Amino acid sequence: MSSLDVILSKAKQLQPLEPHEISRLMALEGPEQQQQLFDAALEVKEKVFGKRILLFAPVYISNECINDCLYCGFRRSNTQLIRRTLSVQETVEEARRLEKEGHRRLLLVSGEKPRKDLVALLEKIIIAVKQNTLIRSIQVNPPPLSVDECQRLSQAGYGNYQVFQETYHWLTYRKVHLTGPKRVYQWRLESAERAVRAGWNSIGMGILLGIFDYRYEIISLLSHVRYLENKFGIGPRTISLPRLRPALGAPLQNAPAPVSDGDFLKLLAILRLAVPYAEVVLSTRESSALRDRALKVGISQMSAGSHTSPGGYSNPAREENESQFYIADHRPLNEIVRELLSGGYLPSFSTVEDGFCQITMKEFIQLSRQGRIRQLVTANGVRSLEGYLEDPSRSEIKSIWLEKREDQFTGLSDGMRREVCLSG
Ligand code: SF4
Repeated sequence: MSSLDVILSKAKQLQPLEPHEISRLMALEGPEQQQQLFDAALEVKEKVFGKRILLFAPVYISNECINDCLYCGFRRSNTQLIRRTLSVQETVEEARRLEKEGHRRLLLVSGEKPRKDLVALLEKIIIAVKQNTLIRSIQVNPPPLSVDECQRLSQAGYGNYQVFQETYHWLTYRKVHLTGPKRVYQWRLESAERAVRAGWNSIGMGILLGIFDYRYEIISLLSHVRYLENKFGIGPRTISLPRLRPALGAPLQNAPAPVSDGDFLKLLAILRLAVPYAEVVLSTRESSALRDRALKVGISQMSAGSHTSPGGYSNPAREENESQFYIADHRPLNEIVRELLSGGYLPSFSTVEDGFCQITMKEFIQLSRQGRIRQLVTANGVRSLEGYLEDPSRSEIKSIWLEKREDQFTGLSDGMRREVCLSG
């Protein structure tokens, strides 16, 4: 067996990979070896999450920001951007539009404000959205919070708490974050640990690819994950690898350390193997063609039909002068659902923590290692998709689903299949 075969066989058994094994995978070249990597990543993804692809949409509540990040259109010194913060009612209106499209999971995004103000605003918005819409899962992308603030939001029942480090390279971090609280590297670095200490059950991690050498970033990110696993017995529920995109008025229009499409796919596959229990997330920053390829290397979650400006769903024209970055995949949600179904995937609007089956992150990791998360997410996926397809305007998509429904159960044992059918 070659050293590559040994690493891939270990990964396929859902065993953690060591940093030197990750380095070996990153150094892979040549189409054959890369295909071996991609095949292994897809096998692991299907072992853990089956065919299910979880869908969500971001809701931007404000593009006002007290920081100055060179890669972002929201940075405070950008005079080209039209600034706006939605009221609670306007945010509910955005959520209603997404609900009408069929979405049930939102990610709230905002430029950074003084933390006290932002936490209070998020609380009001989440309560109002949950009371007035069918949205059931609301994730948040807040600035790094203190343990007390994390506790407050965690007890209020918020979903995944995501803080991306952007870059783990300290000097580069200081160069691209010019002013504001985000400039403090250490405070951001320790945010996941504070959230775990505060009892947050679900955290998201990530880096912004394109700012510094991706090899350094990936090894650092995975070292951070191992640190959390060793110290607390839990790791990230989600991992994201956004690539830098052009943004209105951002000095960094082009990535100083670009990551090619081929390398990007390789990194997604490596993350899938290195942290098999995590949702690997892909946003509409990437083109539809690239996202289709990413489905074959192990991603398990994607945004769909997104706008990246406050009020962008009600007023799409705002994207031009008010958005954080320009998106590359403009397909509406129904088109993405149709294409996922045609490709043999299970588009889902719900995951195990959304309702009927609440489990902790520790249980999630344990169950995924036993290969049992698959039936839970398949059950939720089938149930949520069939709810989406009840709308008569989606009858054409429903007929594709009815043809493909049976395939979703392939590979599940009779017992698991029975559980899926009963749960779903
Ligand atoms: S990346 Fe975030 S913190 Fe930085 S300027 Fe943009 S919105 Fe503000």
